[in-house]
Amino acid sequence: MSVLDLLAGFPRVRMGHLPTPLEPMNNLGRRLGCDLWVKRDDCTGVGFGGNKVRQLEFYLGRAQALGATQVLITGAVQSNFVRVAAAMAARLGIGCHIQLEERVPDVSALYRTNGNVLLDHLLGATLHAYPEGEDEAGADAALAGIAEDLHARGEVPFIVPLAADQPPTGALGYVDAAGELMVQQGVFDEIFIATGSALSLCGLLFGLRALGCDTPVTGVCVRRGAGAQTARVQQRLDDLAGLLGMENPVSFADTRIDDQALLPGYGRLNPQVRDAIRVAAQTEGVFLDPVYTGKVMAALMAETERLRGKRVLFWHTGGQPALFGYGDQL
Ligand SMILES: *Cc1c(COP(=O)(O)O)cnc(C)c1O
Repeated sequence: MSVLDLLAGFPRVRMGHLPTPLEPMNNLGRRLGCDLWVKRDDCTGVGFGGNKVRQLEFYLGRAQALGATQVLITGAVQSNFVRVAAAMAARLGIGCHIQLEERVPDVSALYRTNGNVLLDHLLGATLHAYPEGEDEAGADAALAGIAEDLHARGEVPFIVPLAADQPPTGALGYVDAAGELMVQQGVFDEIFIATGSALSLCGLLFGLRALGCDTPVTGVCVRRGAGAQTARVQQRLDDLAGLLGMENPVSFADTRIDDQALLPGYGRLNPQVRDAIRVAAQTEGVFLDPVYTGKVMAALMAETERLRGKRVLFWHTGGQPALFGYGDQL
């Protein structure tokens, strides 16, 4: 039985515009001296799309199976996850409570009101504030408190968890994406994708290896340094193996984590990221985002020598609405 058959055992709401396009980036590739392609997961369709649509198809499948009337989710102020959750909840006719964490220091008025925050309001989500940005367990505990209040009022709350002590349900969407890529592709020499919660990278890497594809996948850090992120990825791969009920097909040496574009930290720009965003727009007409995909492209562009002549896949995970929250820094 293939890993893709195992996915059928998990409830799922199918809303994404899938499969997403796999497109060449000929102009940028020529400039970098490689055969560059992009997987357009910014085009997953629901509520401005992005990688979280694939993840939330499985979380909301569970929510629906449990009869949830409210979905609760936590994220940074410019979180794409919470915006997509609110959009998908609206489609399902259930409510959405969003908790916004203070993860980024010294932010502007635009950051607090525009981009994803504007969309959260338009989607009719109920917004809550959480004063910490680096306390995942605390953020989940605060969500649990909101869930208790909702329960006391007769609602059926469903929490989309943040911390790594919960099953990596969202990674199932990227196991599915690995199968999708294998149907679409010739063979790539290298794949680059952002890694924050680690669920997208883990699902993709797990799926590719379980399906017999050994293309190196580099996870580009957006949230924490390479040491901590490597540990998280390895833990989540084991958790995913447990969730699927199969052996983890990914060896220890096979987790490639690159944090060269991370500084000065989560949700904060640096000159290489600004440059990557401009170059992608001006050579390909493709918008990258300031928090995730701009950092991935910056890391990829820094590896030009090593990638010369190779067939390289840049995995676009979306996030463009945040551009409008960072307008004064771009
Ligand atoms: C959340 C997010 C990521 C990171 O994905 P994880 O599965 O959390 O590692 C990458 N890109 C965008 C645009 C995101 O919103």
